[in-house]
Amino acid sequence: MEKIFDMVIVGGGPGGYTAALYGARAGLSVVLLERAFPGGQMVSASQIDNYPGLPDGIDGISLGDQMRKGAERFGARTVYADVTGLELSAEPKVVRTEGGSFLGRTVVIATGASPRGLGLEKEEALTGRGVSYCAACDGMFFRDKTVVVVGGGNSAVADALTLSRVARKVILVHRRDALRATKLYHAPLMEAPNVQILWNSQVEALLGQEKLHGVQVRDLISGKVETVECDGLFISIGRKPSTELVEGQVSLDAGGYIRAGEDTRTDLPGVFAVGDVRTTPVRQIVTAVADGAVAAHEVEKYLAMVRG
Ligand code: NAP
Repeated sequence: MEKIFDMVIVGGGPGGYTAALYGARAGLSVVLLERAFPGGQMVSASQIDNYPGLPDGIDGISLGDQMRKGAERFGARTVYADVTGLELSAEPKVVRTEGGSFLGRTVVIATGASPRGLGLEKEEALTGRGVSYCAACDGMFFRDKTVVVVGGGNSAVADALTLSRVARKVILVHRRDALRATKLYHAPLMEAPNVQILWNSQVEALLGQEKLHGVQVRDLISGKVETVECDGLFISIGRKPSTELVEGQVSLDAGGYIRAGEDTRTDLPGVFAVGDVRTTPVRQIVTAVADGAVAAHEVEKYLAMVRG
């Protein structure tokens, strides 16, 4: 008979691996499915300074790998596979991959979030060819070049400042006349000598075939469109939750995040959501790991209840 796991975890970020650690340590049988590298969104962070206990900080790849090792030490298994489908109302629940299915008494969704795109023609084709969603990962490729950053939130401003230390010129394009970013960032941005801000403006076309060489920017007040020559475009307009697999099976909030409270329970019994994918006011590594611990505890309670 096919093995039925106590917990099948989808996603190997900090939330997923903490659920795996706590679950395995509590004696549950745990399998975690991860598409690529352990760490989730942390993988693209070159320096993490807000995870306590690491006074010198750490890079995201190392922290992800340490989390994986910690969970595996207690018997959690990692399977590297793309999850292609979920049957969350079935008993046991089914998690499908191209290499086969995994059965679980419970499923923990830890799929996180991914960068939002502008939805422009050629955006996908030019990603990695001048278009990027991660200044910390790709900034170094633009030493002494001209880059455009889109957005007005903390990510966009932090990215513009990071890039201003590498690139020759940074042009921040924001659709309004005020930044959403916290005040703390305003002065350093305004004072950076190589940062120009295009207010009330929107990137509306990408120029280049094999490689990006410029963008078309519309002034939203005058309606005028100008060509801005650049080597790179960093799109920093927020993130969207990765919920394609659960849509129609569990309830989502207006922003598309899985409706689950602090107890990580979704509206479907035996299905839990942790980290950036769930409705929560703060999305940080520490909040994701807290969710993972809570989810394992809730899984134990749920299993005790269904087993009677
Ligand atoms: P965000 O705060 O939601 O900001 C997104 C920005 O992109 C906004 O300025 C928004 O414009 C703009 N935008 C959205 N859709 C757009 C579109 N289609 N075209 C053009 N512009 C568009 O997202 P975020 O900056 O990624 O931050 C996400 C969360 O992480 C926030 O809570 C943030 O505080 C936090 N964070 C914190 C730090 C830190 O150092 N403390 C660093 C990074 C992120 P409008 O302003 O007009 O809406």
